[in-house]
Amino acid sequence: MSARVLVVDDQEANVRLLEAKLRAEYFDVVTAFSGQSAIDCAIAQQPDVILLDIMMPGMDGFETCRRLKSDRRTRHIPVVMVTALDQPDDRVRGLEAGADDFLTKPVDNLPLFARIRSLLRLKVLLDELRLREEKAEERGLAPVDAESEALQDVNILLVAGEDRIASHLASKLPPQTNADVEIDPARAITRSADGYDLILIDLTTKAFDALRVCARIRANSETRQIPILAIVDPDEVSRSVRALDLGVNDIVHRPVDRGELNARIWTQLRRKRYADTLRERLEDSLEMAVTDPLTGLHNRRYISSRLQQVAEIVASGDTTASVVIADLDHFKRVNDTYGHEAGDFILREFSERLKARLRAVDLAARYGGEEFVILMPDAPLTEAKAGAERLRAAIADTPFRLPGDSGVLAVTVSIGVAEIQPGDDVDTVLRCADDALYRAKAAGRNCVMTDQKASQAA
Ligand code: GH3
Ligand code: MG
Ligand code: MG
Repeated sequence: MSARVLVVDDQEANVRLLEAKLRAEYFDVVTAFSGQSAIDCAIAQQPDVILLDIMMPGMDGFETCRRLKSDRRTRHIPVVMVTALDQPDDRVRGLEAGADDFLTKPVDNLPLFARIRSLLRLKVLLDELRLREEKAEERGLAPVDAESEALQDVNILLVAGEDRIASHLASKLPPQTNADVEIDPARAITRSADGYDLILIDLTTKAFDALRVCARIRANSETRQIPILAIVDPDEVSRSVRALDLGVNDIVHRPVDRGELNARIWTQLRRKRYADTLRERLEDSLEMAVTDPLTGLHNRRYISSRLQQVAEIVASGDTTASVVIADLDHFKRVNDTYGHEAGDFILREFSERLKARLRAVDLAARYGGEEFVILMPDAPLTEAKAGAERLRAAIADTPFRLPGDSGVLAVTVSIGVAEIQPGDDVDTVLRCADDALYRAKAAGRNCVMTDQKASQAA
């Protein structure tokens, strides 16, 4: 995976050393020698990972990190702090400043590359979500705030080799969290799908192969996104590397420091919330892209693309299909007499009656203000006309009861029907149905007319 890494250190020798290591692994490296130039560079160059020295004159690494993480242009970029001192206090301060990870000087190659790979995997995922989010923002949705919700009601699955160790670890968890303990590896894998926010697993246990448990959790699509935090002995470098490569999100060294454990848990949870929110928003915006918000029917864009597909199938000669356009009669009067809200109510009620009369394969859309299009696959003109007639009657025969005590209202609809002819494009079909609709209006409304061209041919 080729990626751009920004290396920040006030000592040129340190920068050159890291730069050489990274270039040897084919990373694209950019450098900065102070906090401020690191921020400028991050904005301009959009690196995939930032390796940030802590002790720098002027703006130190903590402050630089805080600023990077509070700027929308850079807060998605993972920051790894590089510290000379292996002090838990430093780590906690760094994590609180928003750092994603830590490395100690002198930097060992294996952990360095494993951390970078692990952060890059995560970033690829978040970048994709962010990209779609930006599109949603362009369409006028409010931006997602990465830090919005307070973290509470956090459920953690704690996997360890024995109860004694598990309760020792549980005693170090933040008070706002609720931990369930599991010491059986098979059950741990099953329970990981029970909606936990995070999995904390002791990789130092000899009771079972805990790396295999991590691998199984990652292999399951249901649990692929849950953050896994693993506890490892500091001298087990290759185990940490394997764990990160398997998809474990972060490592905590034994003996476990409470402050560091808590800070790392919050980092993972914050990131998960952010990703979850982006994902939910994505689903919403996909839904919005195909649905009419007032009626819950499909929207114009969606029905147009489906019409295109069906027209192509008809062109291949395998089937017939028809298009129905329904337009409410004198709808302007409804608005003028009863108000726009009553108008909206009628549109919704009309849609409900329409939905209730569709076949399972029919697709109905609100095409414009009070105009609806129904695509009827596998329906020749006569069948579509009969369906349209039933819809017309369902509207005309039962007056609409306005909400509250605003009375009842007689509503009618005029309908045009056209069968899709092989070789027709979408515009042609819609024009034929629209011509029929126009004749229905001209004939006094509250009636169904069919496309003349097709009726003559039939
Ligand atoms: P016709 O029988 O010839 O179709 O007459 P009409 O009044 O229904 O047709 P016209 O196209 O003149 O007016 C359509 C009206 O539909 C105008 C507009 O106020 C109303 N309308 C369009 N969209 C909405 C909407 O979302 N909500 C409400 N309440 N009214 C809408
Ligand atoms: Mg109308
Ligand atoms: Mg109209």
